[in-house]
Amino acid sequence: MAIDFLTEARALYDDLVATRRDLHMHPELGFQEVRTARIVAERLGALGYEIVTGIGKTGVVGLLAGEQPGTRTVLLRFDMDALPIEEENDVPYRSQSPGVMHACGHDGHVAIGLGVAALLARQRAAFGGTIKLMFQPAEEGLGGARAMIADGVLEGPHVDTALGLHVWSGFDTGTAVVRSGALMAAADTFEIEVHGRGGHAAHPEQAVDAVLVAAQIVVALQTVVARNLSPTEAGVVTVGVLQAGTAHNIIAERARLRGSIRSFNEATRALLHRRVAELATGVAAAHGASAEVHIAGCVDPTVNAPAPTAAVYAAASSVLGAAAINTSYCTTGGEDFSAVLAQVPGNFFFLGARDEARGLSYPHHSPRFDFDERCMPQGVAILCDAALRCLAAE
Ligand SMILES: [Zn+2]
Ligand SMILES: [Zn+2]
Repeated sequence: MAIDFLTEARALYDDLVATRRDLHMHPELGFQEVRTARIVAERLGALGYEIVTGIGKTGVVGLLAGEQPGTRTVLLRFDMDALPIEEENDVPYRSQSPGVMHACGHDGHVAIGLGVAALLARQRAAFGGTIKLMFQPAEEGLGGARAMIADGVLEGPHVDTALGLHVWSGFDTGTAVVRSGALMAAADTFEIEVHGRGGHAAHPEQAVDAVLVAAQIVVALQTVVARNLSPTEAGVVTVGVLQAGTAHNIIAERARLRGSIRSFNEATRALLHRRVAELATGVAAAHGASAEVHIAGCVDPTVNAPAPTAAVYAAASSVLGAAAINTSYCTTGGEDFSAVLAQVPGNFFFLGARDEARGLSYPHHSPRFDFDERCMPQGVAILCDAALRCLAAE
């Protein structure tokens, strides 16, 4: 591509770092991104974007029309929310909000988004069609993407292609993961309520022990992936919560299990849901108890479409070099941008952000998470380049 976005993005480096650190010091939880949204709206307005605020509660949309002829609209999405974690990093830009931290890198996403906004505003004469920036609240399990979709972010103008990225502490700075098909998993939750019959610890023959039944259900659920799923398919069933009982001398009447189900396609997803429910109710019945099972589909798999993925691959190759692009990695983590990709063809990619030598390699959601800020100009350049490629596509 004729425009050297990487050189332009590198010139923004100090501003990207300052923006990211300011956001890092002032993290806001999902649907509470009031300060962040205000900063985004002010900056987009100053750059000449048409702005709509209050989309999906605290979301912000920025629109920019190119000066060449063109009818396509490309959406670029950046999530804004932080997590309920107390930061343990001792850095000058440490979180100033007790118990709240940008531990997933969304502060970097907002900074990258504002960098993209600045560079594309300068290049209006170079493209046709519309750039739509989606600054999204509440990615971390609260449904921010769905809230913005419900408020019409994919229409007016209709979005043809959607792009997004995540800084990724599992890969070195200077690399990226760009993959067609499923990049991230569906993340669903289940809750199982076991109903037994309470009684005296000394008289088990008069009771139905919900603790014993729950324990057998935990073990049985581990057979779903091991024995029901094809070895060539991936899936996870995790029991994260097991609660029962009140005293050592009482047989518990009830027990509660909660957990997570991960899968990469709808067939596997349906199989795992069905077997979790069958095993829980079947094991309970075998012991004279009963089980109520609730499974909630929370996050769809993040599935990348071929053409937008080819555009991002070409952009990432021109910025980082083809040898730096991994096309096979995928993760059982979930991402709510999947709700956008379920409706619009697009691509979500990982931007390497690890620098082991400087200790920037803690996992996402760790109280020690931080990322290598040198990845930010690369993210800006890749998204700008890819967006223009998608606008130019037939
Ligand atoms: Zn996260
Ligand atoms: Zn995240």
